[in-house]
Amino acid sequence: MTDAAIAIRNLCKTYQGGKRALDGVSFDVPQGTIFGLLGPNGAGKSTLINILAGLVNKTSGSASIWGFDIDAHPRNAKAAIGIVNQEILFDPFFTPIETLEIQAGLYGVSKAQRRSMELLRAVHLEDKANAYARTLSGGMKRRLMVAKAMVHSPPVLVLDEPTAGVDIELRQQLWAYVRELNAGGVTVVLTTHYLEEAEQLCDQIAIINHGTVVANEPTRQLLSRAQEKVVEVTVERDVTTLPEASCFQKIALKGDRTLAITYSKDQVNAGQVLAAVQAAGFAIADVSTREADLEDVFLSLTRSAA
Ligand code: ADP
Ligand code: MG
Repeated sequence: MTDAAIAIRNLCKTYQGGKRALDGVSFDVPQGTIFGLLGPNGAGKSTLINILAGLVNKTSGSASIWGFDIDAHPRNAKAAIGIVNQEILFDPFFTPIETLEIQAGLYGVSKAQRRSMELLRAVHLEDKANAYARTLSGGMKRRLMVAKAMVHSPPVLVLDEPTAGVDIELRQQLWAYVRELNAGGVTVVLTTHYLEEAEQLCDQIAIINHGTVVANEPTRQLLSRAQEKVVEVTVERDVTTLPEASCFQKIALKGDRTLAITYSKDQVNAGQVLAAVQAAGFAIADVSTREADLEDVFLSLTRSAA
């Protein structure tokens, strides 16, 4: 038993037809965090979430939610988690308040313990309580799904691409609500392919690509990788062999004469990098530098696993 909100061990999923969507995924979601599961489209994020939700059967491996193994204690595991799926799914003929009441009924929440109106208020849908769900905008439906996922007050809330099709203002409201829930003790997992979103909200970020985890670190630490700097050096003759130096973290050729060199700002400066290029026998024609950002870190991590 770990004190992780979610513990995933060596999870594999091969769909019928042979697509291997998850290939040995392991990680813990620490209690009380906002945890980001990041990855490009097709990485396996929804597959993982749908396994936790009991909507997809895993091929092998294990997962537990709030200490309950999804195979051994499926009911307890299910009660501990609220999931907002990527696809918007509910009956268009029910009103938001009915939708929440029905969901509460499905989860066996007694009438006295229901808080449907409070949830609608939290997601700014109070005035739509009695409107048909089909008359709601995309953003409203998304917020209704969040309220629906919270009817049984689970300690863990999972949001799969919650901001797809949600405009910026509503996105901010949604994040405000997520932060409020988290401040109240709810562990939140969100999947997204927007880095910026994860960067702003998440305490910890796991990056998944082609069904494997390529990074899993506190956001701060991941960002510190973005302290890397890239200097582009154009030299005065064609490069046939890449120069090597201990101060280069990475070197790549761009065109015939331009070297993109990655180095760590806290260890060397651009002058030392340029000196190393010259020492390798290249005369320098031009130089430009730029900061690496999280986007670069993400791209290099997802590329290297391809
Ligand atoms: P993400 O949510 O990260 O975009 P998914 O988990 O939806 O990724 O998909 C991972 C991979 O599994 C993709 O290649 C996708 O095409 C495939 N996949 C997803 N669902 C199914 C399915 N029901 N049957 C076969 N392949 C699937
Ligand atoms: Mg998905």
